[in-house]
Amino acid sequence: MEHVETHTNLTDTLTQQNPFSLEGKLALITGGGSGIGLEIARCMVQAGAHVVITGRREQPLKDAVAGLGDSAEYLVNDVCDLGSLDGLVKHIEDSWGPLDILVNNAGINMKKPALEVTDEEFSRIIHTNLNSVFALTRACAKQMVARKSGVILMISSMAAYYGIDRVVAYAASKSAVEGMVKVLASEFSGANVRVNAIAPGFIETEMSRTAMNNDPERRDRAMRRTPMGKFGKPEDIGHAAVFLASDAARYITGASLPVDGGNSIGF
Ligand code: NDP
Repeated sequence: MEHVETHTNLTDTLTQQNPFSLEGKLALITGGGSGIGLEIARCMVQAGAHVVITGRREQPLKDAVAGLGDSAEYLVNDVCDLGSLDGLVKHIEDSWGPLDILVNNAGINMKKPALEVTDEEFSRIIHTNLNSVFALTRACAKQMVARKSGVILMISSMAAYYGIDRVVAYAASKSAVEGMVKVLASEFSGANVRVNAIAPGFIETEMSRTAMNNDPERRDRAMRRTPMGKFGKPEDIGHAAVFLASDAARYITGASLPVDGGNSIGF
């Protein structure tokens, strides 16, 4: 009898509610007006979350929110404007309540041989994909650590796992983000704030379509390097994000999850 009671206590949350649910959670997703960010937003709304999406252009955000329904808001914000990010978090929390989930998704890429990349181009990519991620994470984490609750997700890349030609700044930014995940996961672990990365393989979005269409040889190479023989869909990243943001992943922190059709294992 004693054994049965103990067992019941241990399985409490798993049996009483769906551990994959994001019901009652508030999420901020940067770059949520298109591509992977939009599908992360859609999957999180489906899982019960209220989402706030950001981006630089208003129209895609408006269209996205119209498609997401009552559980979505948008704010025009450029993550490169580091001085705006504390205010962004404050505005969101004053308007919709405490943030439970941050998804650092906004990012840019550029393909050029390393020797042709200018200092300005290198800095622009590092600023967008790395400096802004740290500044926004710090703004959110201050609140999350104080509340002893929160989840932070970084959208990384295969470019952080192995050498891909002509993306030197992008690879540097994503590798640095992977390093940041481990440090922040360790520093915040005592405060019940989990930090993880998702490393997408080749996912069909505007960003990748443009790159692939301009370079069919690269497209063939990418396909050959993907054991499952097909590119991923933005919702594949969305489902992984829901899992990592949910209580189902409550014992996962400091991890990088490849969602890549096997790309990272090589073959
Ligand atoms: P998209 O170009 O389709 O979307 C990027 C989004 O980020 C846009 O909505 C854009 O909106 C927003 N954005 C860009 N710069 C800023 C900024 N300074 N401030 C705020 N928002 C910004 O790209 P993906 O969906 O493909 O990429 C999303 C993430 O996934 C990126 O971090 C990318 O590196 C990563 N990734 C993608 C892969 C793929 O195959 N597609 C593979 C691996 C990683 P706006 O222009 O209006 O600001």
